[in-house]
Amino acid sequence: MSQSFRRQLVFTLKDRCRVCYTCLRECPVKAIKIINGQAEVINDRCIGCGNCVKVCSQGAKYYLRSIDEVFRLLDSEEKIAACIAPSFPGDFAEIPDANILVGMIRRLGFSLVTEVGFGADIVSREYEKLLKNPDYSGDISSDCPAITYFIRHYHPDLTSMLAPIVSPMVATARVIRQKYGNDYKVVFIGPCFAKKAESLETDEVLTFVELREMFAIKNITPEQTTPTPFDPPFAGRGSIFPVTRGMFMATNSNEEIPENKAVFADGRVNFKEAVKELEEGFIKDKHLELLCCEGCIMGPGTSPGGRKFSRRTRIESYVTDKLKNLDIEQWNKDIAEYSTIDLHQHFEPEDRRFANPDEETIQKVLESMGKFEPKDHLNCGACGYDTCIEHAIAILKGLAETEMCLPYTIEKLHDSIENLNISNEKLAKARAALKQSEKLAHMGQLSAGIAHELNNPLGVITMYSNILMDEAPSESPEREDLRLIVEQADRCKKIVSGLLNFARQNQVSIQSTDVVKFTQHSINSIIKPDTVEVRFESKIQDPIASFDIDQMMQVLVNLEKNAVEAMPQGGILLIGLEGDEKEITFKISDTGTGINEENMNKIFTPFFTTKEVGKGTGLGLPLIYGIVKMHRGRINVDSNSDPSKGPTGTTFTITIPRGK
Ligand code: ADP
Ligand code: MG
Repeated sequence: MSQSFRRQLVFTLKDRCRVCYTCLRECPVKAIKIINGQAEVINDRCIGCGNCVKVCSQGAKYYLRSIDEVFRLLDSEEKIAACIAPSFPGDFAEIPDANILVGMIRRLGFSLVTEVGFGADIVSREYEKLLKNPDYSGDISSDCPAITYFIRHYHPDLTSMLAPIVSPMVATARVIRQKYGNDYKVVFIGPCFAKKAESLETDEVLTFVELREMFAIKNITPEQTTPTPFDPPFAGRGSIFPVTRGMFMATNSNEEIPENKAVFADGRVNFKEAVKELEEGFIKDKHLELLCCEGCIMGPGTSPGGRKFSRRTRIESYVTDKLKNLDIEQWNKDIAEYSTIDLHQHFEPEDRRFANPDEETIQKVLESMGKFEPKDHLNCGACGYDTCIEHAIAILKGLAETEMCLPYTIEKLHDSIENLNISNEKLAKARAALKQSEKLAHMGQLSAGIAHELNNPLGVITMYSNILMDEAPSESPEREDLRLIVEQADRCKKIVSGLLNFARQNQVSIQSTDVVKFTQHSINSIIKPDTVEVRFESKIQDPIASFDIDQMMQVLVNLEKNAVEAMPQGGILLIGLEGDEKEITFKISDTGTGINEENMNKIFTPFFTTKEVGKGTGLGLPLIYGIVKMHRGRINVDSNSDPSKGPTGTTFTITIPRGK
């Protein structure tokens, strides 16, 4: 009957899950799916071992609760029998007298309170028979439901090795019904919630934790409870089975079965290893006593905070006392009476393994996590899987995400931080450039206004002062004054025309031209002393480009002029032309004085000049900047003004799109 019976045992409280992957790490069958950063139990794959519930520090995993159903049963007209697992003395340390606990259970409304220890007594005899069979070739104990699920789902070929014997719980339910009547409903109370999905022969299953909750709800305390004994049949040595590592050690045979006939393995790593060794043929003719957890005394339904060895000691002393007072004659009679009960069960394989993806597909997933070679497989287990390959397979099955790989995620994070820094830097530069162009735009508007207003009166001043100067006799003292007026008025005109140029640059009129010829023309149009040697180097393949010829001519001429002015003692003016199919780069280098570091961020500010009064207007570079930006180009300055650091000089590099 147990074959088809299956309920969802474990649930996730999504709000509580902090995705630490501890549950996944502890899950022996990886029945946990990480989706959108949430760990969800997949019922079909879960074997109910309870490890995830025990290890979750956030209380995000909880198991199926049956309290309401049991209260409902107790409130009904039905006759309800409780059968309690033999590990109870370990859990209920505060109730040293078992009869008080029995009394408390009765007060909940149970008509009978019996011991599963008696079921263990009769089941252990079945195991004894199995082991003594001359054809015995090894088996796997079937008392732990999580193990039976594990074998049937994940090692279906070993299903025939599951001992064909019911568990002590089912055996006890059968005894109760035989002794007290088939109309009894049976509620099992024990340390393990996997029992809730084991058999339909128990009507409900409570854990010790749930039993405590029921006592609390009904306000049942040991102090107000009259002790009453268990209902028969009483258990013998079967009561010791939670601490003897398995059924057959609890056998009542005089002739003990040697321990070397058995392999004991508990905990998620050990039991799987034992199964693997059995499957691979390393273990033969042995009885495998396997448990998914640390044993029934520490099962996932036991009260939290319990100590393993003190629980063990309490069970041992309870059984020692119990056996001292046991009516052996009666016990033998009971054993004889119930040995007629059929305790066999048959297990069917139910394969739930996934077909593994091919190696190439797995490799692709590994590569998406930056794992290209075997040495990249750190197998660190941080994702919850034992190996990187298992993680990759889980991703392919939709159970896991690449982000779960911690080393990969950290690396990605580093990359993102780096990219963020780069973007930040770019942003800062763009912001500075924006500020500069805003400043220039305002300057442009202002200067356009002023220049416009000044241009006409200045024309009048120049014209009339020139007329007056021409008319003045050559020896007249006014002539020198008039010459000064003419000269200064000329200077004003220069500034005004500079301002007008500066204000004009918000429009570009693109024309196609030969840049090589264009550049040569710019060189020819500047006045340079003989001490300055001019070199022109063109590395350009295709000389045709399109830009605003007048504006770009101003750019080159202004840069060349600045270069010449920076070399009062002479030097080399190097004009280079480079480019690819997309861009043209002009390089204007001089071997002049260089620009002081402190002046570097001022040179594009309008009216900034280091030249003496009358020589510089400080409008050349702001003008250039504006023109280059209007062409969607870039401008870069490299300069050294400190002879101790190497040859002085400045290079302006201007790159503009070819504009085709
Ligand atoms: P101006 O030439 O009228 O001074 P610019 O805007 O063309 O105005 O240049 C501003 C300042 O930048 C100059 O006064 C000078 O200090 C500096 N400068 C520009 N080009 C050079 C260069 N090639 N070498 C040294 N200093 C330069
Ligand atoms: Mg200049």
